[in-house]
Amino acid sequence: MKMSKPHIVAIPYPAQGHVIPLMELSQCLVNHGFKVTFVNTEFNHKRVMNARDDESHIRNDQINQVPISDGLELWEDRNDLGKLSEAIQRVMPMKLEELIEKINQEEGDKVTCVIADESCGWALEVARKMQIRRVVAFWPASAAALEVIFSIPKFIQEGIIHKDGAVLKSQMVELAPNMPTMKTTDFIWASIGDKTTQEIIFQLMQRSNKTVKLADRLVCNSAFDLEPEAFTCLEPQAFTLAPNILPIGPLLASSRLGKAAGSFWAEDSTCLEWLDQQSPSSVIYIAFGSFTVFDQTQFQELALALELSNRPFLWIVRPDISETTPYPEGYKERVGSKGLIVGWVPQQKVLAHPSIACFLSHCGWNSTLEGVSNGVPFLCWPYFADQFLNESYICDIWKVGLRLDKNESGIIAKEEIKNKVEQVLCDKSYSARASKLKELAMINIKEGGQSNMIFKDFVEWMKS
Ligand code: UDP
Repeated sequence: MKMSKPHIVAIPYPAQGHVIPLMELSQCLVNHGFKVTFVNTEFNHKRVMNARDDESHIRNDQINQVPISDGLELWEDRNDLGKLSEAIQRVMPMKLEELIEKINQEEGDKVTCVIADESCGWALEVARKMQIRRVVAFWPASAAALEVIFSIPKFIQEGIIHKDGAVLKSQMVELAPNMPTMKTTDFIWASIGDKTTQEIIFQLMQRSNKTVKLADRLVCNSAFDLEPEAFTCLEPQAFTLAPNILPIGPLLASSRLGKAAGSFWAEDSTCLEWLDQQSPSSVIYIAFGSFTVFDQTQFQELALALELSNRPFLWIVRPDISETTPYPEGYKERVGSKGLIVGWVPQQKVLAHPSIACFLSHCGWNSTLEGVSNGVPFLCWPYFADQFLNESYICDIWKVGLRLDKNESGIIAKEEIKNKVEQVLCDKSYSARASKLKELAMINIKEGGQSNMIFKDFVEWMKS
């Protein structure tokens, strides 16, 4: 008789930086004998299916990818996170319930566990309502970011923010010694989109602060050693505010030769051959994740800075940006083979390449962990959400990178970029600290490391 497998339904928040790490966790769980049904929105499902190559097609066969509607029309803008979040909460709970019911009525393994993004509290509610045995919240970002969101009631009480999330006092905040500092105006919700979007995201976070209590466990894509103070801060709250918080990261595609799954754009792997031809530790890698957009002046300034730096560079300009933003006159001809500009790459493989010297990054948490796990020093160019917090980890706490400062016109000028590139590469203390941090991060996920042990316990509990 065929043994039934524990069956997980996994639901990410529909954004690239949430889909990739949950896909990674799903793959780890498949390797431990679980069956996984991975639920993307129809829109993202199509993107993932269209972007995948033959290799990932075969590898991800073990994960059953199922689309459900996000409630928006096809033409509507998924980068409008307020609108997207509202639509999801309206439509997806019912769709998820129907999906779980359908799976349970079919022949085959019944749903035993739900793992939902912490920001998808509605999915945790559905899981509880349907009496799923194991209900888990997944936090794809730093423990510090979670602590900021958990601290919302405190910020309201102290008059730092209004009860609708609007920032009332512009000041620096440090939640605990040795935790990243941040400007209140850079609070996660306060830096996303226009006022309406900010309010919707703020409400979503307040809702998540309640729904997270429905989860039995909260797994976090971070390691205790990377942010001991933040995890210590979260600890006392575990009993009142949240379930057990388990650091199981950095979740990386190490078991699959550094190849992550779930990309929304097709990866251009030819850059790896180009990297092979460059000298060790010579290339500046520039990538801003899946959301960041540039105005034309800033885009051109960055282009000119890379030319001015006179070093080889690999620059990711997503297809949606290259369609709309022109390069300076004659730029590509002048740069020639010194710079490679591509639409999307296998970033983990790129960062692991010995020719990479530094990472000019928007500091998304996944990119941060990927840079850290490869011992690469950073130049920080945060854009929104938790990226300012991650910048503070990189520059102030771990000291493995430098900030890029805006000039009086609000632009990061080409000279600033060139100078900081020189500084981070010539001062060898940055790469020395980055190498140490890499060791600390990687020890955690090796056999017997702390994140590894916590993950194994988690697997046993999920199966029990
Ligand atoms: N990424 C990639 N190829 C690229 C650029 C980014 O595979 O050319 C991946 C990157 O490795 C990371 C994710 O996209 O896993 C971006 O997540 P992050 O949290 O850094 O930023 P976000 O896109 O959420 O702002």
